[in-house]
Amino acid sequence: MKLKILWMYHDLMDLYGDKGNAEVLRVRSEKRGIECILDTCSIGDKKDIREYDLFFMGGGADREQGLIIEDLLSRKDNIIDAMNEKTAFLLICGGYQLFGQYYKDQDGHIVNGLGIFDYYTEASDRDHRCIGNIALEATVDGETFRAVGFENHGGQTKNVASPLGKVLHGHGNTYNSGYEGFLNDLVIATYMHGPLLPKNPRIADSLIRRALRKRHGDVALEPLDDTLEDKARMVMLKRLKADK
Ligand code: GLN
Repeated sequence: MKLKILWMYHDLMDLYGDKGNAEVLRVRSEKRGIECILDTCSIGDKKDIREYDLFFMGGGADREQGLIIEDLLSRKDNIIDAMNEKTAFLLICGGYQLFGQYYKDQDGHIVNGLGIFDYYTEASDRDHRCIGNIALEATVDGETFRAVGFENHGGQTKNVASPLGKVLHGHGNTYNSGYEGFLNDLVIATYMHGPLLPKNPRIADSLIRRALRKRHGDVALEPLDDTLEDKARMVMLKRLKADK
C-alpha cells in the first residue's frame, strides 16, 4: 500500500516546524509497512494534485503568502477536482487562511483566497497578534482528545462553519474566540504550529486514514507505541492547565 503526499510551497510556507508534519506522516506510515511518497510542489511546478492522497500546506508570514498566492489561485480547479476525488488536506495557519474568501494582512492589503470555504481572515495591526501555546479539545472522525500546539498569527478567522476544536488555552481562530481551526470530512485546518503532529498522534493517524481512504477505502491502522508522544503532550497540557 502506498501513501502519496504533496507538500505545497515547502520552500516558502513552513513556520515553527511545520515541515515536521510531513516527517511524522512518513514515519507513522512506514512503521505500518505503508510506503510513503513525499513530493514537493512550489511556484511554477507542474503537479496534478489529483494524483496525491494528501495535500499538505504549512504556514507563512504575510510576505510569503503574497509570494505564493497567484500560483495557488492558478491551481484552484485542480484543488477542487482533487477534493471531489477525496484527497485529504492538512492546512496550517497561513495555508488554512488562503483556502477561505480572503486574507486582509497587517498592512490592510486584501489577498484573495481560493474561496473554497466561507470563512475569511482579517489581521489587526502589527501590535496585536495571537502568540503562544495553545490547547484544545477536538473530535476528529468520532474520537475526542486534547491537542496542543503553538500559534503565532495576526489573522482573525471568522465565519468558520465547523471548527476543529474548543480552545482550552490560547486564542484560536480569533482572540479568545473559544474555537480553533476548521474541520470537515477531507480537511483538517488549524493555527497549530509546533509542528502539530509529533505531540498529536491521533490527528496524524486521522490524516493517514483519510488519505488512504481515497484509494483503499477504510483502512484499520495498527496501533503504534505513542508513550513518548503522549508524555510530551501531557507535559504541555499540564503546563497550560488544560489536562483535566
Ligand atoms: N501571515 C498570517 C498571519 O499573520 C499567517 C501566519 C502563520 O502562518 N503563522 O495571520
